[in-house]
Amino acid sequence: MDSYIININKVKDEDLIVTILSENYLYTTYRFYGARHSIINIGYKIDFELESNLKSNISRLKDVLQLSTPWIFDREKLYCWQRYIKLFYSHLKDIENIDKFYINLLDTLSHKMIKQNPKRAIIESYIQLCEFEGRLHCEYECLLCDKKIKSDISLVRSFLPTHKKCSFSRGFELNKIKELFKNKSMINFDEEEVEYLWNILMQGL
Ligand SMILES: [Zn+2]
Repeated sequence: MDSYIININKVKDEDLIVTILSENYLYTTYRFYGARHSIINIGYKIDFELESNLKSNISRLKDVLQLSTPWIFDREKLYCWQRYIKLFYSHLKDIENIDKFYINLLDTLSHKMIKQNPKRAIIESYIQLCEFEGRLHCEYECLLCDKKIKSDISLVRSFLPTHKKCSFSRGFELNKIKELFKNKSMINFDEEEVEYLWNILMQGL
């Protein structure tokens, strides 16, 4: 099954606990150290087998095959991708049955990143995620004072809207954010704005 590694924890010696996001499950697996194992890393797309063990409730990860991603040797793309993927672990770790929306979202994003700037593509992907989870706030009411936002809008963690004057943060033209939320496109944003939104996103999904 094609899946993504979203977390790796070292346990003893070189053994690893590897968390894998697949179509409908989040698997927590154990990988024993072995010099002949293929290298694994956060964000890698893999195919794998699981071996259950009666003595332990955690399955053993084996036969890992890394699936190719065209941009995997592009350092900036890989770096941004890994930072985004890591956020999925804290976001999904307590959910057992995962909607296949998440793996589809990552597949689509990975494909888009062949041609597109990684930060722009990731922010667009995140807007889709918020919409899917029903927390894309398109009523444009301020999180802090509950009043309607009519001109400058600021986004805080989770891209929640506030008045610029209420959160004392960077303002955007309201129409620009409305367009972003509606079309899930970063086309109208300049590099500095992309960087600003990227840093908000990195605070957590
Ligand atoms: Zn306000």
